[in-house]
Amino acid sequence: MQRRCFDCGATLARSLADHAYRYDHGAPIQLRAIVRWSCACGYYEVEIPRMGPLHRTIEQALQAPDVKREDLALLFEEGSRGIEDGTWSVIEARQPSEAP
Ligand SMILES: [Zn+2]
Repeated sequence: MQRRCFDCGATLARSLADHAYRYDHGAPIQLRAIVRWSCACGYYEVEIPRMGPLHRTIEQALQAPDVKREDLALLFEEGSRGIEDGTWSVIEARQPSEAP
């Protein structure tokens, strides 16, 4: 599967990266191991699977009274049918999973 850059036409490189997701007007939510397509020219796009379940998981996590969104990180794991039945889960944001 190949994708091309909308800006320069070069082939995009696929990698997994952390992504700061703009969920609302507050601080962004950290998503781990998100598929990222990037180009040498600086263009990139990210693939965020299953937005509905993602939003429900974030809402639930933020309802906990003592949670700080800066401490939250979410990780997507594929299910037995791949992305289709994959699930989002909340993990500790301080786990070492820094993007290169
Ligand atoms: Zn490009």
